[in-house]
Order: sequence, then C-alpha cells, then structure tokens
Amino acid sequence: MRVAFLRPSLDGGRAHDAMEPLAFAALAAVSPEGTTHTLHDERLAPIPTRLNTDLAAITVETYTARRAYQIADSLRAQGVPVVMGGYHPTFLPDEAAQHADAVVLGDGEPVWPQVVADAAAGRLRPRYEADGFPDLATLRFDRSLFHGMDYQKVMPVQVGRGCRFACDFCSIHAFYGRSLRQRPPQAVADEIRRSGARHVLLVDDNLLVDREQAAALFEALIPIGITWGCQVTLDVTHDLELLDLMARSGCIAALVGFESLDDGNLGQMRKRFNTVGGPYAEAIGRFHDRGIMVYGSFVFGYDHDGPDCFERTVQFALDHRLFLVNFSALQPTPATRLYARLESEGRLLHDAWWTDPTYRYGDAAFQPARLSPDELTEGCRRARQQFFRPRSIWRRTWTRPHARSPRRLAIYLGANVMARRALKAKLGKPLGKREMGNGNGEMADSRLITVPA
Ligand code: SF4
Repeated sequence: MRVAFLRPSLDGGRAHDAMEPLAFAALAAVSPEGTTHTLHDERLAPIPTRLNTDLAAITVETYTARRAYQIADSLRAQGVPVVMGGYHPTFLPDEAAQHADAVVLGDGEPVWPQVVADAAAGRLRPRYEADGFPDLATLRFDRSLFHGMDYQKVMPVQVGRGCRFACDFCSIHAFYGRSLRQRPPQAVADEIRRSGARHVLLVDDNLLVDREQAAALFEALIPIGITWGCQVTLDVTHDLELLDLMARSGCIAALVGFESLDDGNLGQMRKRFNTVGGPYAEAIGRFHDRGIMVYGSFVFGYDHDGPDCFERTVQFALDHRLFLVNFSALQPTPATRLYARLESEGRLLHDAWWTDPTYRYGDAAFQPARLSPDELTEGCRRARQQFFRPRSIWRRTWTRPHARSPRRLAIYLGANVMARRALKAKLGKPLGKREMGNGNGEMADSRLITVPA
C-alpha cells in the first residue's frame, strides 16, 4: 500500500519558514506493516502533477483549505482516493467532504491504521473519528519521512495536546475540548536524545499544562544539553523556581500571547489571566533576566481597539526589546466563540474567507467596532513594517538575551531576517493557486497547476 502525505502551502508557492510536518510522522509510525510513505510538502517544492500512489492524505489548516481543495480535486479526477484531516476538516467536515473520499476528525493516530486498511480494500468510509481522546503515552514519530528534505534546522517535538484556557479567538479548545494530555517527560527527553538534535521547538500550544510535569520535563532535558523554544502562557513567570529550571534546561526563546495592551480587550477575549500576576513589563524582565528571548504575539481588532492601538503596541514591543512579534488582524476561525459571535452580529465580511478567491492573506475578514476593515489591515501591515525594519532590528539587538554570545546574536538576527522575508512573501497573497482562464475569480480549471516531477 502506497501512501502519499501532502502538505499544501498557502498559495501553491514555496515558504521560507517550513518546519517538519509532525502530524505525518505520527501517522507513518502507526501505518500497517507493508505501507510505503512519500511526503510532498508544497512549501519546499511543487507537488507533482501526477502521483503514483494508492492513497493521498492531505493535512488541512484553515489558511490552506482552498489550496488543499484544489489539489484534492485534481487527484480525485485522476482516480487517486483522498483522505483529509487536521483542524479545518474537523471543524467543517461537510465542507471538506466535498473534496475528499474520507475525512478524519480529531486525533488521527487512533483511526489511521483502519483508514489505510480500508483504502487498501477499496472501501474507505466517509468519516473516521476516534472514541474520546487517546492517551499520548504511546505516541511515536517516524521521522524517516523527513530525511533529505530542506526543513528548518530546528526539530519540532510534541509534549502534549490541549490548553488549560479557552480564549475567545483560539481554535485549540474547539479541537481538543477539555482534554489535557501529556507524554511522559522521560519519553520526550529520550526522543530528543535519540534524534541527536541540538535545537528543538516544543510545539505545544501552551507548554505549561501541569507544573510538576513541566518541571520533570525540564529536569530531564538538562543532561541532553540542547537549546529549545516553546509557546507558553505568562503565568510561567509567576513561578521563579520553574522559570529558573526552564532556563537551565536550555530554553532560549518563548512565544507568549500578550494579545493586547487593553484590559477591556483582554476581558472580551477571556484572557485577563495574562495580567493577574503583574504587568507585562515585569514578566518580560523575568524572562530576560534568565536569558530567554521573548517572542510576543498580539492581535488587533477587538472592540476596544481604536486607531491608536497599533502605534502604542509597536512602541511597547520596541521599548521592551521583544525578540520577534506576530502582529495579526484578529482572525475569525471556524468553530471558535469569536466566529460565532461575529457571525451572529453580522460582522463577517465573507461567507467563508478561507475559500473566497477575493480574500488576501493578512486582510481583515470582519468589521471591527472602532476601525474600518482597511484601517485594521493597513495598521497591522504598518506595525509589522515598523517592528521589522532594519533600524528596529538593530535597536532591539542590544539587550542581554539577544546579544549574550555571538551564537545568540546570530540566532536573533537570523530569525528577524527570516521573519521579515516570510512576511513579505505571504502578505497580500490570495489563498490557493491562482485560477487559470477567466480571471473573474471563479474556478475555471481546478487542475493542479504545478510542474511535473
Ligand atoms: S492560552 Fe493560548 S493556546 Fe490556550 S486557549 Fe488561549 S490562545 Fe489558545
């Protein structure tokens, strides 16, 4: 049985910041014996126009849905059965089913052996869904899939799934519900040690699920001597002992969702927990004191944001010497509370922005309360430009965690240059590959418009 794993890009083009798509490694590890796998990642190279495979498995995010559907339609027209999985098909299975022979909802690993067996027997079912949320203790990854591929040199590693919080705009809660699952810390450390990787990204949406588990993981990482980054909530800075341990175990960068400087916005997005332990400046100082660079994530467009929100936030990010930032227009993702609220208030600008050929990456997709959609789009663009311009990168260099060693300086500068380049490449791009033919925004031809292998 031959399985081709496909990872679409936003617009059919390459991306500069592609990391290994870990979900496929988890599926490959549980494929029935005798299955052969190939991986086509459109962020690295065009997907061949014809695939010699018995099953195509496509992972779909909301941003790549339109491109995924184009690829799937083309493959099915060639007689290749297609299965889709990931966040987007889980949230909108009926939409995905229009482009797939089978849709996997939720965690893929428990049902994957059955999917492959059914495909081999020519009787794929329309839907597969695991019973509940399986334990992650036995989770394995077959990373041989990635050999010879030109991914970033940082190895993604998954510690657990789920988050303790339920922010209004976030799809994590919609996908994992209340389930909070973690792999045994020693299993994670063993996986890293065996891989020989020196630089690791712990990809969990919030690494701090359980204090004791986190401490055990950090202890287990110390003897390996790696450097690592993660995404974590600000409450980690309230526990100085844990934060010290985190730094000693090799953490050099943490992505933190500050989201907004406005308390009214934090209340609306259900994220007031951000400021319970003190002001942002104090939390950043605690990271910096331990040599941890802070990657700040901010969203613009909540109801308390007026025209001055961009300038204030950029100034904050520059004054506090953030390592990197995400400055994003608030994005209504299906299945979130935010989406339901904006829809009920009649504020969505598209029926489904992710499949709308007129939508462009980075555009506001809803009507903000105190800004026009164009002001929101343009304000975000300007904020990114100000933060990532060469003068700002230079100014932020001279802070302890960024310039503590020549190696750290290289990481800081390299990451900023790459972020600047990646943003430039993505912003303003339509989602999906441009249609051939009529040019009026309707699909004239859904064939794969890619170069032959
Ligand atoms: S803390 Fe982060 S991962 Fe958790 S629900 Fe909020 S935005 Fe999502």
